Amino acid sequence: MNTLQLVNNEHSLNKDFKPQHLIQDSFSKIWLCREVFWAVRRINYILCKLGLEQVVIISGYRSYAYQEKLFMRKIDYFGEQGLDDEAAKIKAAQIVAMPGHSEHQLGLAVDLAVWSMKDLADPLTTDFEQTSTGKWLLQHSHQYGLILRYPKDKVTITQITYEPWHYRYVGQKAARKMYENHWCLEEYLCALKG
Ligand SMILES: [Zn+2]
Repeated sequence: MNTLQLVNNEHSLNKDFKPQHLIQDSFSKIWLCREVFWAVRRINYILCKLGLEQVVIISGYRSYAYQEKLFMRKIDYFGEQGLDDEAAKIKAAQIVAMPGHSEHQLGLAVDLAVWSMKDLADPLTTDFEQTSTGKWLLQHSHQYGLILRYPKDKVTITQITYEPWHYRYVGQKAARKMYENHWCLEEYLCALKG
């Protein structure tokens, strides 16, 4: 598995791509690549030791078909709001990744919430960054190979709005480099190419 594989608006995965070595989280029933699964396990172990709230997995691996369903649902939603097909599609694409363009299809991305927020109607809110756990993750996730994938100040590069809950596994070496240089994945890959 190439843990540095880039998936964004320009780089997509085909319909048939499915990652190998997925593990199902017994609590959330969500599937993740084993690297991410074990990283989250280790993070929760440390959070517990530090007396901080643990994280809950809200989203992990998503198939192409499932992403398509999410995308179509958003188009329908905007259609019902009175937008025409083309406008609804454009609006939907700003919020939900188009099928094949979601990192979640890689199985290397994970959306996290804190335990006390898991039952909210939408547990994925920017409030996550205000929690002690969210703050701790920002400073330490790289030690477990995870990076905040869509930082606030990288929106022009990632073309994805700020998502404090979305973490991506890239491996410890790459994660450390990105943390130290304050790079997002696109910038890191660019630097690698020289
Ligand atoms: Zn996500």
